[in-house]
This record gives sequence, C-alpha cells and structure tokens, in this order.
Amino acid sequence: MLKRDKKKESRIAKERVSYLIKRAEEWKNVDYELARRYVELAKRIAMKYRVRIPKELKITYCKKCLYPYKAGKFRVRVRKGRVIIKCLNCGFERRIPIRPRRSSKKLKP
Ligand SMILES: [Zn+2]
Repeated sequence: MLKRDKKKESRIAKERVSYLIKRAEEWKNVDYELARRYVELAKRIAMKYRVRIPKELKITYCKKCLYPYKAGKFRVRVRKGRVIIKCLNCGFERRIPIRPRRSSKKLKP
C-alpha cells in the first residue's frame, strides 16, 4: 500500500475547499441549490482532511443550513461590539466579535 502523503493531501484539500466556496459565491444568484451543494462539499472535504476553512470564506455562508449568504437572504446588525449575521433561510444567527487590535494605536480621537 502506498504511504499517504498527508502534507500533499491537506494542500490539495485546502485548494479544493477554497475553490468550491468561491464557485458557490459565483453560482448563488444563478442556482441557489447548486451553490449550497458546493458549500456542503467544501465542508465535507475540510472535515475529512481536517483542514481549516479560511476565515474570509467562512463568513460567506450559513454555518447551519450551508446556504451561501445572498442579497435578501441575510441580515446584518451591529450590537454590543459584535456583528450579527442572521440567516433568513433557517433563522440561525452568528455573532462575530469586533475586537480592536492590541498593537494598533487609535488614529481618530
Ligand atoms: Zn441558515
């Protein structure tokens, strides 16, 4: 049996995950179901190979129903220093804290 090349595997997995999520972004206004399927596949690949989905891609879809966020299907609010994104498909809310960077100095008074 061939030895598994874990490094290569995870590199390929990462590529596929970001490719699929980007594809989902492109397709969400054409075929919403297909876009969801892309996200689902991306998530499965990420789980199987235990790779992390990049932060900037993670916020493009709903964690619960896996539909990509598209115009009219989500709501964004800012409350108590958090960005709250509510999915209007399943009602799932996700909170993203806005934390100030420690090293950066305040530019505006
Ligand atoms: Zn949802």
